[in-house]
Amino acid sequence: MNSIELDAKYYMPCFGRSMKIVKGEGCNVWDDKGNKYLDLVAGIAVCSTGHCHPEVVDAICRQAHELIHCSNLYYIPGQAELAEKISKAAALDGKVFFGNSGAEANEAAMKLAKIRTGRNNFVSFAHDFHGRTIGSLAVTHKPAIREPFEPLGINCKFPEYGELEGLKNAVNKDTAAVIFEPIQGETGVIIPNDDFLPGIRDICDDAGCLMICDEVQTGMGRTGKWFAFQHSNVKPDIISIAKGIASGIPMGAIAAVDGLEFTKGQHGSTFAGGPIACAAGNATYGIIEKILPTIAAKGELFKKGLAKFNPRVRGLMVGFTAGDKATDIQEYCKEHGILINVAGDGNIRIVPPLVISNAEIEYAVKVINESVSSL
Ligand SMILES: *Cc1c(COP(=O)(O)O)cnc(C)c1O
Repeated sequence: MNSIELDAKYYMPCFGRSMKIVKGEGCNVWDDKGNKYLDLVAGIAVCSTGHCHPEVVDAICRQAHELIHCSNLYYIPGQAELAEKISKAAALDGKVFFGNSGAEANEAAMKLAKIRTGRNNFVSFAHDFHGRTIGSLAVTHKPAIREPFEPLGINCKFPEYGELEGLKNAVNKDTAAVIFEPIQGETGVIIPNDDFLPGIRDICDDAGCLMICDEVQTGMGRTGKWFAFQHSNVKPDIISIAKGIASGIPMGAIAAVDGLEFTKGQHGSTFAGGPIACAAGNATYGIIEKILPTIAAKGELFKKGLAKFNPRVRGLMVGFTAGDKATDIQEYCKEHGILINVAGDGNIRIVPPLVISNAEIEYAVKVINESVSSL
């Protein structure tokens, strides 16, 4: 059996897949037939430093030769170093805890909110995505993926995204936290107005609940700042981080404000913050730190080049509405060597490696424009 037949026979069919990627370098990937693609999906905003960045590969290999795992029963030097970097980048003045994924980071954030407030209810927003585990699924809106698993043991309301009136009505004295995406990613890059985050902050303060900003997709430089909330002038109590943090080695994290932290025994993980993930994370951080000042201008190139689609752009998070043409555009681009992704509701999402060059952006924009005129 070839690997596609093996997959069909032995792997649970959770995903719709159409191609096999066997190699990556920089912003390019290759399929098993040797076709080369400019990758504007980047493992869904994960391969922030591009594919197999030599500094990341080196860091992983060096660490693998020294020590792959020892458990959190012992100090892990790279873990403390990465915690310092993330804490300072988030500038929330508090501590960091690592997990293995975005969902797990959100679980940690929700546990922390429950323990701090003694409350059990959450408020998220319509079309927000926070993960697939029981807790993170409870605060994920999409009924098709959540409702089959109810009851989930957590009461969550989903007022309209980007509006404060609905949020005000949803939050009350039983709300542990409002958990939200500063830009909705899975739905197709929905950017709220500038007054949205300050409004959430005020409503949380009035209700005495926490503000959890899910930076799993928007964080680690994606929007041109370390974290998307930093485009506003307010600070959340907790941020969750994952996708771009370690260039593809599974890792999640939370960073919280000063004094908001788990005590001994309240949380834990066997694998989280292990030596390999932290080596990859530390290398990734160093690369992003250098290119962070270039990201806003790269976003502007997308914005100009895709102007006729009225795109939604913040840094290298780019979306536009293509309606029922979205899948055809994705297919045309693939046939012409560009990978893009259809997110929710006919929205095209472009989240390339942060190391993408201006020339690569210009080429991508040209093909995407051609795709629409050819349809
Ligand atoms: C991808 C994503 C998650 C879930 O991350 P996993 O690593 O798949 O668990 C959570 N929140 C947001 C905003 C995401 O984009």
